[in-house]
Amino acid sequence: MLLYIQQTITNKEIEMTTKTTSTEKTMNGKTIKVTLNRGVFEEEIRLDGQLTGTKSHLFDKLEIFLFDGTKRLESGSKIDSIENHTRHPNYQNAVKAGCVGLVGRNWFVKSETENVINEMIDIVASENPITEEMITLKNQEAEKELIAKKNMEAIEKMEREQEKHAGWCKICKDWTYGDCGH
Ligand SMILES: [Zn+2]
Repeated sequence: MLLYIQQTITNKEIEMTTKTTSTEKTMNGKTIKVTLNRGVFEEEIRLDGQLTGTKSHLFDKLEIFLFDGTKRLESGSKIDSIENHTRHPNYQNAVKAGCVGLVGRNWFVKSETENVINEMIDIVASENPITEEMITLKNQEAEKELIAKKNMEAIEKMEREQEKHAGWCKICKDWTYGDCGH
């Protein structure tokens, strides 16, 4: 398996520092390619055009491709269990053929192919590990999401309490004490 590494993409709006590793293998006349693009990008926060700060985002993208020569047949971000796709029109045939997973929309894979893809994922990941910076950012993002969720829950709870109060009008969303006629 070949391993390619390319690094650092920058564009005007966002400062992006990502690393891409990829590997490919030919199986049954088709080429499987796995690409991992990981890093951090800085988004510029502007208010009225004034730069007020930057926000760091985590970028972590795995892609699994199937090629026939140069023609891309299918791609997906993971191998999904075939059991999550019992309604797929080809599910029955795929199970009969011994397939265990699905990549993208139509690429059913047998366990042999699944193992090869997983090995390829290990290769690109080992050459492109999650950095300390990414872990910190990931934790910060998870924390922010949790706080946002808790805020939303608190607001919803407050609104439910408000609606129970006789002076609150649900339609005006204000304390009208019935003056609005609703
Ligand atoms: Zn009202």
